[in-house]
Amino acid sequence: MRELELLSHIYRSNPTLPVGVTIPPGDDMGAVTLGGASVLVTVDQVADGVHVDLASTPIEKVGRKAITRNLSDVAAMAAKPVGAVAAACLPKGFGQDMAKALFDAMHASAESFNCPLIGGDISMWDQRLILTVTIFAEPDGIDPVLRSGAQVGDVIYVTGQLGGSIITLDDPPGYTHHLDFTPRIDLARKLAADPTTRPRAMIDLSDGLGLDLPRICEQSGVCAQLDTDRLPISPAAHLAAQRSGQPAWQHALGDGEDYELCFTAPPGTLPDEVEGVPITEVGRIVAQRPGSRMTVHLPDGTLADTAGLGWEHLG
Ligand SMILES: [Mg+2]
Repeated sequence: MRELELLSHIYRSNPTLPVGVTIPPGDDMGAVTLGGASVLVTVDQVADGVHVDLASTPIEKVGRKAITRNLSDVAAMAAKPVGAVAAACLPKGFGQDMAKALFDAMHASAESFNCPLIGGDISMWDQRLILTVTIFAEPDGIDPVLRSGAQVGDVIYVTGQLGGSIITLDDPPGYTHHLDFTPRIDLARKLAADPTTRPRAMIDLSDGLGLDLPRICEQSGVCAQLDTDRLPISPAAHLAAQRSGQPAWQHALGDGEDYELCFTAPPGTLPDEVEGVPITEVGRIVAQRPGSRMTVHLPDGTLADTAGLGWEHLG
């Protein structure tokens, strides 16, 4: 099954949405109007064996990730979180102490981002753990940044560093990016609130830049040109490259779960750093081309062969 194809089908099957729907399917969050105010909503899952490995991960980090993974979508819209609800399918035999530690961690994480858990549901089954979290957010004075606003000539930026998110580092000790990352909510809202730095299009990097950037291009009707020598490759991605024998840029584009932001903005408007987080120019938005949403350029000027690298292209 191709995820992108399935999502396109779902988006197309909503041709006539009521006027109360202000952000339709196809973005990091949808939005509806409630009592005259815009409410943004996202739902995401953390499944044992897919997004975490319960056997090797402290339960506190699993609970935290169930919240922060969703908050990364809130950051992608430059929205402000308001509250969350959660549903858990616990495996039979999941102990009472484990369950308490899990929900305590979810509560603590949600509170720390001013997004209190206000309800939920628990069931048990004979499969592995699945946590489903829904988060509500509000614009609070800042118009949401959509995926559909990229324009030809825009610069493509990413926050932080990319790749190797499943590798546990010694410095800081025990840091594993996909579990320990900080959703870029404050950074996104700071950029979006200022007309001189406001992104035209934005997405958070959950599946990897190689898959997520084409989603901006798809929604904006443009194409991206990416330069591998500009990518902010993380130390973990270099480690991953040593182990895999593949170029580090492939890890930066394809490993996924960076939970950084990718956005486009007019040239010359962005600082190198916001609130201590580096902002790196990685490419340009160019006119739409048939058969491609993104080209990847190597330092010698040739195009990288991206076939079989694990991300999908739209024809
Ligand atoms: Mg997202």
